[in-house]
Amino acid sequence: MNDELTAELSRIAPVKRDEPMSRHVTFGVGGPADLFVSVKNEEQLREAFVSGKRHGVAVHILGSGSNVLVGDGGIRGLVIDNQHAEIGEPWENGVGPRVRAGSGLSFATLARRMANGGYGGVEWACGIPGSLGGAVVSNAGAYGRSLGDVLISARLTNPDGEVSELSAADLELDYRRSALASGTIGESAVLSVDVRLQKGDAEALKETIRRFDEQRKSAQPTGQNCGSVFKNPPDKAAWEFVDGAGLRGHRIGNAQFSEQHSNFILNLGGATAKDITSLIELAQERIRERTGVEMTPEVAFVGEFE
Ligand SMILES: Cc1cc2nc3c(=O)[nH]c(=O)nc-3n(C[C@H](O)[C@H](O)[C@H](O)COP(=O)(O)OP(=O)(O)OC[C@H]3O[C@@H](n4cnc5c(N)ncnc54)[C@H](O)[C@@H]3O)c2cc1C
Repeated sequence: MNDELTAELSRIAPVKRDEPMSRHVTFGVGGPADLFVSVKNEEQLREAFVSGKRHGVAVHILGSGSNVLVGDGGIRGLVIDNQHAEIGEPWENGVGPRVRAGSGLSFATLARRMANGGYGGVEWACGIPGSLGGAVVSNAGAYGRSLGDVLISARLTNPDGEVSELSAADLELDYRRSALASGTIGESAVLSVDVRLQKGDAEALKETIRRFDEQRKSAQPTGQNCGSVFKNPPDKAAWEFVDGAGLRGHRIGNAQFSEQHSNFILNLGGATAKDITSLIELAQERIRERTGVEMTPEVAFVGEFE
């Protein structure tokens, strides 16, 4: 890998070579990234992104790694580990309170911090482990709400370091979709997001979060996974299709469709990306044959698969 780039990145933030991605993603699988830089603030994030692009290498931004499946062959190029989790105080702008948060802050942390301070509007996101940058890319949501409902704007940098502020409409946020994911806006890094809040009662908000936590605990498995594997087709939940294909609990290698929630795949320990893609492909094939429905993965595939 380019020594000049490595030297340039080292002046911005700590860099590692051949860093195993399995350490950084919730699935716990994936081969090494050529270069891995951990950034802690907006300036480092912007500079690392611009630097990688200027040197012509593939640049992958990693938020919390909770929606990616990294191939066993790893990632060629640069991975930017986004730990820019700075958050300001909520402020009023005439139409209600809002807050600006760094794109590396987890959506769940934002929801909990705001509730503790007596601000609602995002309490439904208390169980979404991904970063706000990742939440923009997939328009993350839960319980019938999504980031697009509360996003005032997101600040993004392009590969030349030019920063722009885009609204939810500009970002084309829709069910688990965005202009970033579909590529209708060019390659960009999300730097920060501004979110609309509502003033509320901290105790009532914390109680709501406690109920959401209980609901999740009873519905979703713990352990190494990436949340929902497939997007819900229009008329029926994805888990019903996986069940219909007889795959609840089905295991390949060390990966298994969860017995508790069949739209989750669990790494039982030592699973490979190949085990997981084999399960995904098997489900897609069986569901296509039985119902004609094409199941779209919600998880993003990154790096080299065999
Ligand atoms: C236990 C569990 C529960 C979950 N529950 C939910 C849920 O209820 N609702 C839901 O919607 N999702 C859920 N998810 C999935 C996941 O948390 C979300 O999709 C989340 O938004 C992903 O964010 P991330 O930071 O982990 O993204 P990553 O997995 O790190 O990255 C995902 C994609 O976004 C890109 N990206 C990340 N940050 C940036 C940035 N700053 N700029 C540009 N691109 C970026 C990456 O390059 C990658 O292509 C769950 C996952 C788990 C493991």
